[in-house]
Amino acid sequence: MSSEARDTLVIPGELLGTAEEFVPGHGTYEDRGKIYACLLGHRRVDPSDRAVSVDALNAIPSVHDDDLVYGRVDEVKSAMAIVTILTAATSQRPVPGAPEGTVHISKAKDGYTEALSDEFAPGDLIVARVLQSHPSVKLSTAASDLGVVAARCQSCHGLLGRGDKELRCPRCGNREHRKTASGYGQIPTAAAKSDARTPA
Ligand SMILES: [Zn+2]
Repeated sequence: MSSEARDTLVIPGELLGTAEEFVPGHGTYEDRGKIYACLLGHRRVDPSDRAVSVDALNAIPSVHDDDLVYGRVDEVKSAMAIVTILTAATSQRPVPGAPEGTVHISKAKDGYTEALSDEFAPGDLIVARVLQSHPSVKLSTAASDLGVVAARCQSCHGLLGRGDKELRCPRCGNREHRKTASGYGQIPTAAAKSDARTPA
């Protein structure tokens, strides 16, 4: 079997390589000739068939009320954002089955939210608190330490950095607004930094 290092931690949406270099494997998706991670885990390349895949981190039983979780925003509707719950925030262990959760517009931030699309975009990595785990998972990002921790530029897919009030793309200068967590960009720092150096 492969002895290739699999210690590179990758986040959902992180560029793994191109479709000319690799075959997309488990835990990845291909978009316009590029292969991205769809799980939080370790990047692995099988040298026999050049399949690139992401091994999710070790599993935990389920989601509980009041847990802090990482999730990926899949869709932003007028009244709610739909999120795939990826890992528990404290252990960074994946939640089995990647359950769906929702952030209602009233739970996105403190105060009135005019448009949820000004606070989240599909592909954003968020940290959220579980308000309710059953029968459906309801999440809040209202507290200052909750919200978006990693977001990608809508025009060039680069990782957005923190600006004065908004997020800013270091690659193309695009500015975008999000409901950011106070720890925006810190989690997981190593992956974000290595990805920021990846050429387009
Ligand atoms: Zn950009």
